[in-house]
Amino acid sequence: MTTTSTRFETLALHGGSYRADPATGAVAVPIYQTTSYQFQDTGHASRLFALEELGNIYTRVQNPTTGVLEERIAALEGGAAALAVASGQTASAYALLNVAEAGDNVVSSTDLYGGTWTLFSQTLKQFGVEVRFVDPADPENFRRATDARTKAYYAETLPNPKLHVFPIREVAEIGRSLGVPLVIDNTAAPLIARPFEQGAAVVVYSATKYIGGHGTSIGGLIIDGGNFPWEEHAARFPLLTRPDEAYHGAVWTEAAKPLGPIAYVLRARVKLLRDLGAALSPFNAFLLLQGLETLPLRQRQHNENAVKVADFLAKHAAVEHVIFPGLQSGEPRRRADAALKGGYGALVGFELRGGVEAGRAFIDGLTLLHHVANIGDARSLAIHPASTTHQQLSPQEQAAAGVTPGYVRLSVGLEHPDDILADIEQALAKAGEAGEPARKAA
Ligand code: PLP
Repeated sequence: MTTTSTRFETLALHGGSYRADPATGAVAVPIYQTTSYQFQDTGHASRLFALEELGNIYTRVQNPTTGVLEERIAALEGGAAALAVASGQTASAYALLNVAEAGDNVVSSTDLYGGTWTLFSQTLKQFGVEVRFVDPADPENFRRATDARTKAYYAETLPNPKLHVFPIREVAEIGRSLGVPLVIDNTAAPLIARPFEQGAAVVVYSATKYIGGHGTSIGGLIIDGGNFPWEEHAARFPLLTRPDEAYHGAVWTEAAKPLGPIAYVLRARVKLLRDLGAALSPFNAFLLLQGLETLPLRQRQHNENAVKVADFLAKHAAVEHVIFPGLQSGEPRRRADAALKGGYGALVGFELRGGVEAGRAFIDGLTLLHHVANIGDARSLAIHPASTTHQQLSPQEQAAAGVTPGYVRLSVGLEHPDDILADIEQALAKAGEAGEPARKAA
């Protein structure tokens, strides 16, 4: 531990045990671009393999550069330990496969990133794991879908396009009363949502987005809150509480005890990462660390710029309505205010009056904002889901996903807000012209 501060700005730069490189004194974290590590002798090697001593063996499982990223995010998130993996998709998959095997089930919110949806509805099914999708509007839906084979609940803090904040505290409480851990994908709300403080057991990130922050690197993170009583629910979690043949009968909840409350993430590393192998490259770990070090500062500016964009859009004649947690009312707003502190994130959706044609014209009219299928870049980004990510869905399916014909999603970046607004304004003028026939017909 290099700092006792609990402030984000300090933890982002100093959280974890790294102070300087032990070999060279380098302050910036070096890129240990190596696959393997020289053992001191055969005794040392066999102790490492038997997990009697922790240390570097092979970069698929552990790497010093990646290790700094893992400690830093665990400190920032308030978790016990973390595991970095090759992508956000891997983080979601491993988070569930770490507790669920064939015949088990997971209860998930319906409001998910499309890639997570297909992972859950198709690929996990292929592994024999059933994902039961429930509407998060009523947290009790999670209880109703739970049975003895339910191994986790899963949801995103701030899912787009609807941007309805998930009731983390309510669902975590239901899970704890039944012995089921809540896994939260906090990709769209780092720092502003604190899932562990609300009872979540595991947090996952696509570090590709705000954590990296510069649109350069794909990566994922799994953070163990160290706060879930696996042993109290031993019958539900045999993968953590029963002897593991692959490690001479090790029981992960026992094996982790000298290291801290990290049985969950220890198993994810030495079983799933070792066997399935979606390791983060040390170079990407370095790039993600560069992003993480300025995340508190960037996140504040993202939040501020997004509020300005949302307010501007809400007053514009070409805009039917704006989707942004800070402009919601009723229960969605209550949930947003309960879970988000210091900002509403940088995602802003809006519905153009002129439908699909206006949506296309808006996107094609942008000159500063980039048209990409991504979020969380330092640059402002825009996409028109009805003509891109959701084009294969029927109009009814699009509506269920919250995608209307004139819906546009913005990921508001860090350019000067006046320049972002100027670009949006001139593109809205083009959208207004293109949408005129649709408006007349309506
Ligand atoms: N979770 C969310 C909320 C996302 O938006 C994404 C990607 O867009 C992912 C997970 C998957 O992350 P990755 O692209 O790093 O695999």
